[in-house]
Amino acid sequence: MHRKVLRRLTQAAVLLLTLLIPVLDLLRFDVQAGRLYLLGQVWSFSPVGQYLSGAGGDPVGFLLKGVFPLLIFFLSLPVWGAVLGRFLCGWFCPVGTMFEIVGFFIRHASDGFRVLRSSGPAAVRRKELLCGALSALSLTVWLVAAGVFLSGFLMSPSEIWREVSSMDPSPFFLVTASGMTAVAAAVYIARRTFCSYICLFGITMTIPFIVSPFSLRIRFDRKRGSLCTNCGRCERACIMEIRPRAQKRKVNPRCINCGECITACEEELGRKQGLLHYGFGKG
Ligand code: SF4
Ligand code: SF4
Repeated sequence: MHRKVLRRLTQAAVLLLTLLIPVLDLLRFDVQAGRLYLLGQVWSFSPVGQYLSGAGGDPVGFLLKGVFPLLIFFLSLPVWGAVLGRFLCGWFCPVGTMFEIVGFFIRHASDGFRVLRSSGPAAVRRKELLCGALSALSLTVWLVAAGVFLSGFLMSPSEIWREVSSMDPSPFFLVTASGMTAVAAAVYIARRTFCSYICLFGITMTIPFIVSPFSLRIRFDRKRGSLCTNCGRCERACIMEIRPRAQKRKVNPRCINCGECITACEEELGRKQGLLHYGFGKG
């Protein structure tokens, strides 16, 4: 299976699984009920005064079955980083996938609306304008849907479903969903800063990625470098705005090993003829 198709399928599967996280109580803080859910375990923050006892829940089970597995996962991240670099960010991060989807709609919307400033056959202009309008509409729907979905981390998904299906949203839901939409939009705007310097998961993998002598990284085939057509496809494909060709022996800590630049170069030079490829270590 082609790398790009495999990556898209992986991203779609992870996104679907992410949708199930609040539904299955894998991670959720129900503000109204005052309950924290972790991997199906519950820690209740109410009634006031029983905070430390985890009233309504099982404190020992919460720690062993909720906190402990997540801690193990978090502690394993440096090992992932030392071996695969930021591959998990590039292939499995649902936030990164959301960024790519939003970026796709924005790109198509701006391309479509660009015809307003250009001349050309009316039929072509109409088609591009329609494409731009549909992309802008999709972007709006996507951001609102993201806000509704993210609200599931702060209130009961069944309550959200009840309010949405009855078209009777509560003020709490409206505030939560709009706040989450705004957060999603803000994080998208600061996406590269977010991925490089704010996301705790990313940072935890980045440091071992840089110092490890054998981590997975993108390499440019310098021996065949003269075949480079300077088409710039690899740079345009890079969601982290890196120049993949410029990556020498030192790894770029922003690179998430998504492999989009490899695919872009193969599109230019032919399958298996590209100048960019994955490799372990300094090479
Ligand atoms: S350099 Fe290549 S692998 Fe790294 S983030 Fe950019 S497109 Fe992805
Ligand atoms: S995509 Fe390949 S051929 Fe085009 S600029 Fe990048 S390295 Fe050169």
